[in-house]
Amino acid sequence: MSAYLPVESIREGAFHAASRLHGLDLAEVHDVPVCHPDVRVFAVRRGKESIGLLWLDLYARDGKVSGGWMDEYRAAESFRGRVLPLVSINMNVARPAAGATALLSWWDALTFFHELGHALHMLCSKARTPSLGSFTVAPDVLELPSILNERWLTTLEVLERFARHHRTGEPMPKRLVERIEEARVFDPSDGATASLGYLATAFVDLAVHLAADGGEVDPVAVEERALADLGLPPAAEPLHRVTHLRHAFAGIYEDRYAAGYYCYLQADVLAADAAEAFLSSPGGLYDAATAERYRRTILAVGHGVPAAEAFRSFRGRDPDPEALTRRFGRKS
Ligand SMILES: [Zn+2]
Repeated sequence: MSAYLPVESIREGAFHAASRLHGLDLAEVHDVPVCHPDVRVFAVRRGKESIGLLWLDLYARDGKVSGGWMDEYRAAESFRGRVLPLVSINMNVARPAAGATALLSWWDALTFFHELGHALHMLCSKARTPSLGSFTVAPDVLELPSILNERWLTTLEVLERFARHHRTGEPMPKRLVERIEEARVFDPSDGATASLGYLATAFVDLAVHLAADGGEVDPVAVEERALADLGLPPAAEPLHRVTHLRHAFAGIYEDRYAAGYYCYLQADVLAADAAEAFLSSPGGLYDAATAERYRRTILAVGHGVPAAEAFRSFRGRDPDPEALTRRFGRKS
């Protein structure tokens, strides 16, 4: 699989999808400061209009935080004239041997699209002040653009053009493409919010916060009780144990995730429903009118519009939880 996922090609595919959907052009620039020679910078434009800057820090190195994430160095604002957003995508791709091509796992390729989805949310913000910017929305809404953006990796437009063998240039075989989809439908819990491990962690997170009454809480005891109450099968492990659930107390984005680990499930609902808006349009996932509406009603508004209202503006109704069931249960 990885042989068909050269990092540079997948990056181009992700930028290509952003260009087709949102009219964004991302061109590398070399006159912007970087913290390490590995880091590259891309100027983001729509036509002649500058939209912002994107730093790309893809490779693992000593001392770097693990995992993949998006960062917003400076939020967009228009209160005192237009201030452009400055964002970064950070990953820990293994550095290839000299002269070799860096290859991604399927999971890493999805992560790249995920983080670019976050970056697009920040870049497309039309918020008047940073306090109303994209980064300040509730965590479930924050994960909507990122989870949704993963969809474009699996479009034939991206796979056929960009997922090509790093030596032969051959496109990913059709059978392999089919198997990616079959695997997702066969086991939607793989890394997803349908998994018992994720749900157990979400329940424990809520139980710990509900146990707090101003006195001391023994989180490990609460966890034990919550897991026993759930009757979690021994084969299912919570995704995070309470002692290392950073979301619960350690302050990811201040305390906005407190008791909010369940938000990824709601984010999955929002993303599945939003994807159906595209899929039911004439142009499918590349439908220009739907992309424009999505940009205007969701990406651009930041926290300036209540999230429920923003979603209704996009979809014409409240989110439909059945959209996630359909996503798990059938090909789309
Ligand atoms: Zn995310």
